Amino acid sequence: MKIIVDNDSCSGHGRCAALAPSVYVLDDRGYNSMNETEVSPENEAAARVGANNCPERAITLVD
Ligand code: SF4
Repeated sequence: MKIIVDNDSCSGHGRCAALAPSVYVLDDRGYNSMNETEVSPENEAAARVGANNCPERAITLVD
């Protein structure tokens, strides 16, 4: 699975990193500036939780 973050849509709520810190990392401004990132199988459930709770729907998961 891959994470794709729409950096323009991210509003810096930080919910992704709060709920799934093993997957999502915020930059020093509190925004998710991750690019396309491969997720290890053990982190897939956490990646889904973070994506489903992003208020801006900025995170897309691709199988
Ligand atoms: S939850 Fe969404 S809007 Fe908030 S920091 Fe993460 S990607 Fe950005």
